[in-house]
Amino acid sequence: MKYLYLEMMAEEPLAIRADHAASGAKTTKLLTGSAVLGSLASLHRQRYSEQRTEFPELFLQEQVYFPQLLPASYEISEQALSENRFFHSVLPVPRTAQSCKRFGGFHKLKEESPTIPARHGVRDMLLDWATFSLLQQKRDISKKENPLEAHKECGYKDGCTEVLDHYTGYYRRHYVDAKLRTAMEVKSSLEMHTGINREQGTVEDSILYSREVIARGSIFSGMIKVPDHLEEQLLQFHDQRTYIGTGRTRGLGKVRIAVSRTDGANHGSMYGPREQTLKLFREKLLKFDDALRGVCSTFKAETPAAFYFALTLHSPAILLDEYLRYRGSIDAATLAELTGSTPKTFELLYQNAGVQRIAGWNELWGTPRQQDYAIETGSVFLFSSQQKLDDQMLLALYRFEEEGIGHRQAEGFGRVCVSDPFHLEREQM
Ligand SMILES: [Zn+2]
Repeated sequence: MKYLYLEMMAEEPLAIRADHAASGAKTTKLLTGSAVLGSLASLHRQRYSEQRTEFPELFLQEQVYFPQLLPASYEISEQALSENRFFHSVLPVPRTAQSCKRFGGFHKLKEESPTIPARHGVRDMLLDWATFSLLQQKRDISKKENPLEAHKECGYKDGCTEVLDHYTGYYRRHYVDAKLRTAMEVKSSLEMHTGINREQGTVEDSILYSREVIARGSIFSGMIKVPDHLEEQLLQFHDQRTYIGTGRTRGLGKVRIAVSRTDGANHGSMYGPREQTLKLFREKLLKFDDALRGVCSTFKAETPAAFYFALTLHSPAILLDEYLRYRGSIDAATLAELTGSTPKTFELLYQNAGVQRIAGWNELWGTPRQQDYAIETGSVFLFSSQQKLDDQMLLALYRFEEEGIGHRQAEGFGRVCVSDPFHLEREQM
């Protein structure tokens, strides 16, 4: 399995059929995996019709996992580009993130205009919830001991008394200093259209309507997971144009594609050779376990389990139980089944999850399909394990991240991150 970096730049405004997330319109400003797959498939049909035999492998047999493309309009200096620096992927903010209700958002970067008011930073609450959950298993907690109590107020520079609020969206780490993070947003614009009189075929008086579209120039990016033997076939899409989304007859939807390998310096070490990524993966897991124990000990909460880790969804996941009903969470039994461990190995300590409806449309065939329900992007599940992090456990969890979980992974569903470092970043306040 290899990773390829995929980017689409809107040369014309885009209108994407939205999947319905409970958290509002904001989450629909991405290019769904299904739309990405459909648009590349239609490009392939038009441009590479002589290579017809590879079409099923690329688009029909779920061998290639196309990603959801997330907003990535990000100012990178020419110098950084020429130095081939390490660029980070765009990721969803986990549901455990909070920020100031009044001045919410990641801290300002140096390059940002001085006229923008200071933002009070984003902090993650997962470790506090973990501590709370572990304390609660033992005894009633007084207000003073409660790890959640201290974070009711923003407290930025010891002065802000605004309440904390949920913080959602997408972010990317800064290419110079990975501790700095920036929110990734999509610019939308309104397009005005005139209504047409059906009988006369002319403009109808006083019928004027608008639709919201993604602005020209917006960039979206993600990682394709591809088996080694299909890599070249996908690289041929580099610098081609195709159409994505709806409204193509109105001049919408033209994008320029960029595809590149990730084993160069550009995209960071998590996409490198396996020995290397496995080592980094282990370090990441141990760091999380360590940090959790650290926070717990300051609140005198016991940490009896052999190992603690979190699963954070980096895209919606469609999971079915044995009766083919949709799952709304990942519980300990499901996890044991997915990792091939004995049933009592894991315990779910905390979860913050939501469910979203996935629109019933097959972009590849242009036909309706059954609606699905998925566990939302950014959902977090915290587990304790009775088994310590030995090689077997390490590989099982590594496979989770590498292969993903659940159904429709070819359309970008089911991407999981184990012990996402985002949860350890609490210094921003
Ligand atoms: Zn504040």
